[in-house]
Amino acid sequence: MILMLLGPPGAGKGTQSQLISEKLGVPQLSTGDMLRAAVKAATPVGLKAKQIMAEGGLVHDEIVIGIIADRISQPDCAKGFILDGFPRTLAQADALDKLLKSKGRKIDCVIELKVDDTRLAERIECRARETEAAGGVVRADDNAEALKTRLIAYYRETAPIIGYYFAHGLLKSVDGMAAIEDVSRQIDEILSEFQAA
Ligand code: ADP
Repeated sequence: MILMLLGPPGAGKGTQSQLISEKLGVPQLSTGDMLRAAVKAATPVGLKAKQIMAEGGLVHDEIVIGIIADRISQPDCAKGFILDGFPRTLAQADALDKLLKSKGRKIDCVIELKVDDTRLAERIECRARETEAAGGVVRADDNAEALKTRLIAYYRETAPIIGYYFAHGLLKSVDGMAAIEDVSRQIDEILSEFQAA
Protein backbone atom coordinates (compact mmCIF):
# COMPACT_ATOMS: atom_id res chain seq x y z
CA MET A 1 0.00 0.00 0.00
CA ILE A 2 1.33 3.41 -0.97
CA LEU A 3 0.10 6.14 1.35
CA MET A 4 0.81 9.83 1.61
CA LEU A 5 0.28 12.19 4.51
CA LEU A 6 -0.31 15.86 3.76
CA GLY A 7 -0.62 18.83 6.08
CA PRO A 8 1.20 21.95 7.24
CA PRO A 9 4.25 21.94 9.50
CA GLY A 10 3.20 20.85 12.97
CA ALA A 11 0.11 18.97 11.73
CA GLY A 12 1.42 15.67 13.09
CA LYS A 13 2.43 13.93 9.85
CA GLY A 14 5.56 12.45 11.40
CA THR A 15 3.78 11.09 14.46
CA GLN A 16 0.95 9.52 12.46
CA SER A 17 3.26 8.14 9.74
CA GLN A 18 5.28 6.36 12.37
CA LEU A 19 2.16 4.80 13.90
CA ILE A 20 0.89 3.64 10.49
CA SER A 21 4.33 2.30 9.61
CA GLU A 22 4.34 0.12 12.75
CA LYS A 23 0.81 -1.13 12.08
CA LEU A 24 1.21 -1.90 8.40
CA GLY A 25 4.84 -2.99 8.54
CA VAL A 26 5.84 -0.68 5.69
CA PRO A 27 8.53 2.01 5.93
CA GLN A 28 7.89 5.67 6.66
CA LEU A 29 9.73 7.81 4.13
CA SER A 30 10.27 11.24 5.63
CA THR A 31 12.24 13.54 3.35
CA GLY A 32 12.70 15.87 6.35
CA ASP A 33 14.38 13.07 8.35
CA MET A 34 16.46 11.98 5.36
CA LEU A 35 17.62 15.55 4.74
CA ARG A 36 18.40 16.11 8.43
CA ALA A 37 20.50 12.91 8.37
CA ALA A 38 22.30 14.20 5.27
CA VAL A 39 22.98 17.54 6.98
CA LYS A 40 24.33 15.75 10.05
CA ALA A 41 26.59 13.52 7.96
CA ALA A 42 27.68 16.56 5.88
CA THR A 43 27.08 14.70 2.59
CA PRO A 44 26.99 16.78 -0.63
CA VAL A 45 23.17 16.82 -0.42
CA GLY A 46 23.36 17.84 3.24
CA LEU A 47 25.73 20.69 2.49
CA LYS A 48 23.33 22.01 -0.16
CA ALA A 49 20.27 21.65 2.08
CA LYS A 50 21.60 22.89 5.43
CA GLN A 51 21.04 26.61 5.12
CA ILE A 52 17.76 26.32 3.19
CA MET A 53 16.33 24.04 5.86
CA ALA A 54 17.49 26.17 8.79
CA GLU A 55 15.74 29.15 7.22
CA GLY A 56 12.56 27.16 6.59
CA GLY A 57 12.70 27.20 2.78
CA LEU A 58 12.18 24.27 0.43
CA VAL A 59 15.12 22.20 -0.76
CA HIS A 60 15.35 22.02 -4.57
CA ASP A 61 12.96 19.65 -6.28
CA GLU A 62 15.73 17.70 -8.09
CA ILE A 63 17.42 16.89 -4.79
CA VAL A 64 14.35 15.54 -3.00
CA ILE A 65 13.06 13.76 -6.10
CA GLY A 66 16.46 12.04 -6.40
CA ILE A 67 16.36 11.00 -2.75
CA ILE A 68 12.86 9.54 -3.07
CA ALA A 69 13.62 7.78 -6.36
CA ASP A 70 16.57 5.99 -4.72
CA ARG A 71 14.65 5.19 -1.58
CA ILE A 72 11.57 3.65 -3.17
CA SER A 73 13.74 1.37 -5.30
CA GLN A 74 14.97 -0.37 -2.16
CA PRO A 75 13.58 -3.82 -1.34
CA ASP A 76 11.82 -2.77 1.87
CA CYS A 77 9.52 -0.54 -0.22
CA ALA A 78 8.29 -3.43 -2.35
CA LYS A 79 5.20 -4.00 -0.18
CA GLY A 80 4.44 -0.31 0.11
CA PHE A 81 5.50 2.82 1.97
CA ILE A 82 4.24 5.98 3.63
CA LEU A 83 5.30 9.32 2.24
CA ASP A 84 5.75 11.96 4.93
CA GLY A 85 6.78 15.41 3.72
CA PHE A 86 6.99 14.47 0.05
CA PRO A 87 5.74 15.73 -2.38
CA ARG A 88 5.78 19.37 -1.32
CA THR A 89 5.41 21.00 -4.73
CA LEU A 90 3.35 20.22 -7.83
CA ALA A 91 6.58 19.46 -9.69
CA GLN A 92 7.42 16.86 -7.05
CA ALA A 93 3.89 15.42 -7.31
CA ASP A 94 4.29 15.11 -11.09
CA ALA A 95 7.69 13.49 -10.75
CA LEU A 96 6.28 11.02 -8.23
CA ASP A 97 3.45 10.06 -10.57
CA LYS A 98 5.93 9.39 -13.39
CA LEU A 99 8.27 7.49 -11.14
CA LEU A 100 5.52 5.23 -9.83
CA LYS A 101 4.04 4.75 -13.29
CA SER A 102 7.41 3.60 -14.61
CA LYS A 103 7.38 0.92 -11.92
CA GLY A 104 3.75 -0.06 -12.59
CA ARG A 105 2.71 1.26 -9.19
CA LYS A 106 0.37 3.98 -7.96
CA ILE A 107 -0.65 5.93 -4.87
CA ASP A 108 -3.49 4.23 -3.01
CA CYS A 109 -4.53 6.99 -0.67
CA VAL A 110 -3.62 10.53 0.37
CA ILE A 111 -4.54 11.52 3.90
CA GLU A 112 -4.85 15.19 4.71
CA LEU A 113 -4.43 16.26 8.33
CA LYS A 114 -6.71 19.26 8.68
CA VAL A 115 -5.61 21.73 11.32
CA ASP A 116 -6.50 25.07 12.73
CA ASP A 117 -3.83 27.32 11.18
CA THR A 118 -3.75 29.67 14.15
CA ARG A 119 -2.68 26.79 16.43
CA LEU A 120 0.32 25.65 14.39
CA ALA A 121 2.86 28.07 15.87
CA GLU A 122 1.73 27.00 19.35
CA ARG A 123 2.24 23.32 18.46
CA ILE A 124 5.73 23.89 17.08
CA GLU A 125 6.75 25.98 20.09
CA CYS A 126 5.42 23.24 22.35
CA ARG A 127 7.44 20.60 20.46
CA ALA A 128 10.60 22.71 20.83
CA ARG A 129 10.01 23.18 24.58
CA GLU A 130 9.37 19.46 25.11
CA THR A 131 12.49 18.49 23.17
CA GLU A 132 14.56 20.93 25.20
CA ALA A 133 13.10 19.72 28.50
CA ALA A 134 13.93 16.13 27.52
CA GLY A 135 17.54 17.17 26.88
CA GLY A 136 17.22 16.78 23.10
CA VAL A 137 18.41 19.05 20.32
CA VAL A 138 15.75 21.47 19.07
CA ARG A 139 15.41 21.47 15.27
CA ALA A 140 17.21 24.37 13.61
CA ASP A 141 13.93 25.39 11.96
CA ASP A 142 11.69 25.19 15.05
CA ASN A 143 11.81 28.90 15.79
CA ALA A 144 9.36 31.72 15.03
CA GLU A 145 11.21 33.15 12.02
CA ALA A 146 11.84 29.84 10.22
CA LEU A 147 8.30 28.72 11.01
CA LYS A 148 6.90 31.75 9.22
CA THR A 149 8.96 30.87 6.13
CA ARG A 150 7.86 27.21 6.39
CA LEU A 151 4.21 28.23 6.56
CA ILE A 152 4.56 30.56 3.58
CA ALA A 153 6.26 27.76 1.61
CA TYR A 154 3.47 25.41 2.65
CA TYR A 155 0.61 27.65 1.56
CA ARG A 156 2.32 28.74 -1.66
CA GLU A 157 3.80 25.46 -2.83
CA THR A 158 2.31 22.53 -0.97
CA ALA A 159 -1.34 23.38 -0.29
CA PRO A 160 -2.25 23.26 -4.05
CA ILE A 161 -1.30 19.58 -3.99
CA ILE A 162 -4.34 18.88 -1.82
CA GLY A 163 -6.62 19.97 -4.67
CA TYR A 164 -4.54 17.96 -7.12
CA TYR A 165 -5.07 14.71 -5.20
CA PHE A 166 -8.70 15.54 -4.50
CA ALA A 167 -9.25 15.85 -8.26
CA HIS A 168 -7.57 12.47 -8.72
CA GLY A 169 -10.07 10.95 -6.28
CA LEU A 170 -7.34 9.98 -3.82
CA LEU A 171 -7.91 12.44 -0.98
CA LYS A 172 -9.26 11.59 2.47
CA SER A 173 -9.30 14.24 5.19
CA VAL A 174 -9.09 13.75 8.94
CA ASP A 175 -9.34 16.16 11.85
CA GLY A 176 -5.71 16.72 12.82
CA MET A 177 -6.63 18.82 15.85
CA ALA A 178 -7.92 15.80 17.75
CA ALA A 179 -5.73 13.89 20.23
CA ILE A 180 -3.02 11.66 18.71
CA GLU A 181 -5.03 8.47 19.41
CA ASP A 182 -8.19 9.96 17.89
CA VAL A 183 -6.39 11.04 14.74
CA SER A 184 -4.87 7.58 14.56
CA ARG A 185 -8.32 6.01 14.92
CA GLN A 186 -9.70 8.13 12.07
CA ILE A 187 -6.79 7.02 9.88
CA ASP A 188 -7.34 3.37 10.85
CA GLU A 189 -10.94 3.64 9.70
CA ILE A 190 -9.83 4.93 6.31
CA LEU A 191 -7.23 2.20 6.01
CA SER A 192 -9.66 -0.54 6.98
CA GLU A 193 -11.85 0.43 4.02
CA PHE A 194 -8.85 -0.26 1.78
CA GLN A 195 -8.04 -3.54 3.44
CA ALA A 196 -11.67 -4.64 3.11
CA ALA A 197 -11.75 -3.70 -0.58
P1 ADP B 1 7.73 20.01 8.80
O1 ADP B 1 6.64 19.26 8.11
O2 ADP B 1 7.57 20.09 10.28
O3 ADP B 1 7.98 21.38 8.23
P2 ADP B 1 9.87 18.19 7.75
O4 ADP B 1 10.71 17.42 8.69
O5 ADP B 1 8.93 17.43 6.88
O6 ADP B 1 9.13 19.27 8.65
O7 ADP B 1 10.81 19.07 6.77
C1 ADP B 1 11.81 19.92 7.28
C2 ADP B 1 12.45 20.72 6.16
O8 ADP B 1 13.10 19.83 5.24
C3 ADP B 1 11.51 21.56 5.29
O9 ADP B 1 11.19 22.82 5.87
C4 ADP B 1 12.35 21.70 4.01
O10 ADP B 1 13.39 22.65 4.17
C5 ADP B 1 13.01 20.32 3.90
N1 ADP B 1 12.17 19.38 3.11
C6 ADP B 1 11.61 18.22 3.56
N2 ADP B 1 10.94 17.60 2.59
C7 ADP B 1 11.05 18.38 1.49
C8 ADP B 1 10.55 18.31 0.16
N3 ADP B 1 9.76 17.28 -0.24
N4 ADP B 1 10.85 19.32 -0.71
C9 ADP B 1 11.62 20.35 -0.33
N5 ADP B 1 12.12 20.49 0.91
C10 ADP B 1 11.85 19.53 1.82
